[in-house]
Amino acid sequence: MAAISQLIKSAVRPTLRRALSTKAAPGTVEGSGLGPSFALTDEQTEIVDMTKKFVREEIIPVAAQYDKTGEYPWPIIRKAWELGLMNNHVPAEIGGTDMSIMTSCLIAEELAYGCTGIMTALEASGLGQTPVIIAGNEAQKKKYLGRLIEEPLVAAYCVTEPGAGSDVNGVRTRAEKKGDEWVINGQKMWITNGGVANWYFVLARTNPDPKCPASKAFTGFIVERETPGLTPGRKEQNMGQRASDTRGITFEDVRVPKENVLIGEGAGFKIAMGTFDKTRPPVAAGAVGLAQRCLDEAMKYALERKAFGVPIAAHQAVSFMLADMAIGVETARLITMKSAWEVDQGRRNSYYASIAKCYAADMANKVASDAVQVFGGNGFNTEYPVEKLMRDAKIYQIYEGTSQIQRLIISRNMIDAAKGKA
Ligand SMILES: Cc1cc2nc3c(=O)[nH]c(=O)nc-3n(C[C@H](O)[C@H](O)[C@H](O)COP(=O)(O)OP(=O)(O)OC[C@H]3O[C@@H](n4cnc5c(N)ncnc54)[C@H](O)[C@@H]3O)c2cc1C
Repeated sequence: MAAISQLIKSAVRPTLRRALSTKAAPGTVEGSGLGPSFALTDEQTEIVDMTKKFVREEIIPVAAQYDKTGEYPWPIIRKAWELGLMNNHVPAEIGGTDMSIMTSCLIAEELAYGCTGIMTALEASGLGQTPVIIAGNEAQKKKYLGRLIEEPLVAAYCVTEPGAGSDVNGVRTRAEKKGDEWVINGQKMWITNGGVANWYFVLARTNPDPKCPASKAFTGFIVERETPGLTPGRKEQNMGQRASDTRGITFEDVRVPKENVLIGEGAGFKIAMGTFDKTRPPVAAGAVGLAQRCLDEAMKYALERKAFGVPIAAHQAVSFMLADMAIGVETARLITMKSAWEVDQGRRNSYYASIAKCYAADMANKVASDAVQVFGGNGFNTEYPVEKLMRDAKIYQIYEGTSQIQRLIISRNMIDAAKGKA
């Protein structure tokens, strides 16, 4: 196995590097008058092919086992790291590939096709890194992102608390300045990679005045896993995506050097929220990958399974269900790409990112449920692949902002635009 990974590494990684050094993404063919282009670059095609191969050989064969045991997929993380499928957005000067969000969505969709639990474990490290990528100074980037390039380690993003998820302004974890340090006390909840991360992005309230606006009340910190007083809780037993590691984390007098503050005191809320502009498109791509897998499994089954003397695909009620699944997958993929393309152009994409995340999540849940329907009784059973897909799909409507919160963001953007404020 090691030899194969070595072979893949030497054969593909230089190509991947080359491919990613250009930030080219499909989009408008500028000046050509041809309008949007859906073509991938040659390099992106190579990356997709390589990822598909990785998923086929390394993820699909073990996904059910990881779902059963809930073990963290370290062997897969290490192989993905070797191939350059992790740390996609780390700047080139630190040794990263500085990949476009569009290209990372192509990878995310393929990984999710294999197993969204494993994909989330990989993706959550990107979520933890993004605050440092968008707001870190040179020394912070070098130290914390550089570490992830040197070794197959992962990061995590700690914002949610037992009493505050959607309402980030309700975060109660406190950080107080004491000399050259900040002292953090509080509790975080539902932190993906919570028990395995090497370091965390942590949002804490630094202005105790309840009247202080969120945009000034919070500060973002980089916190080392090994800091005394930081204790991850037990691994949570979740409905789906069980290979992913979700935990609460307690902070008791956790001392963080002032050098680990991102931007400065009071900048945390904007950093934490700004992160989602870059991370929601790959999450949406994950939902698309899961839905594509549902469609492929359902199609295969519908052609094999017979009822009333014909394959069930010959019954219009079943084939129309397959058609609706395809409509969902294709349209969600397009809006996901649009949301990625917008942010790759350097534009604020919150509106598109929320539409993509919301639509892809809702679509994936419908498609997964329909896939179970196509499988009939077998669909309800763990011996067949679709019950896992249905369990795994649900979280897409919850994490990185629930579907209700996405609708809130979309409608606020629309109202602001209508009032001429946006
Ligand atoms: C498996 C998993 C992994 C996660 N990973 C991370 C992570 O890595 N880092 C991290 O910081 N967090 C993480 N989360 C937390 C996740 O982002 C939150 O669970 C999510 O934002 C919802 O917050 P909540 O659970 O507190 O629900 P609540 O905010 O209590 O919401 C409960 C319900 O009320 C609705 N609701 C709330 N407010 C409104 C409103 N204003 N309008 C309409 N409806 C509303 C919600 O949509 C939801 O349906 C994870 C969660 C899970 C389950």
